Amino acid sequence: MDPAEFDLKRNLLIRAKHGSDLVQFITELAEDRGITAAVFTAIGAIKHAKLGFYDQEKHKYHEIIVDSPHEIASCIGNVSLKDGKPFVHAHAVLAGEDGNTKAGHLIEAIVFAAEIHLRELKGVKLERKYDEETTLSLWR
Ligand code: ZN
Repeated sequence: MDPAEFDLKRNLLIRAKHGSDLVQFITELAEDRGITAAVFTAIGAIKHAKLGFYDQEKHKYHEIIVDSPHEIASCIGNVSLKDGKPFVHAHAVLAGEDGNTKAGHLIEAIVFAAEIHLRELKGVKLERKYDEETTLSLWR
């Protein structure tokens, strides 16, 4: 694909609601603010989470359950459109009590406290479509 070009628009700094799912929170933020393309980072802590590792042979996510409090050492992601609605794609590195980390595709993360920096992008419509090679929804 050719690169999609955007101008940087609003910068939003927001604290995610305690007990919310971080992915859902960012999705609703984008929906509420009419944001169709963005990049974001988040730091903070979670109560528990579900990460994914995409099995490239079986073409499905293997789930990694994180069932204890962890720091969000790093979370990065983007917002684009899927089926005409804002869709969040996020990856995270989560650090446990001993500093050991679990990382992967972020499926769900129940927030203890989290600070999000979202940068809105304005430009072309960036849509995800089913990709036959990977069986993932990828940018067109
Ligand atoms: Zn991913």
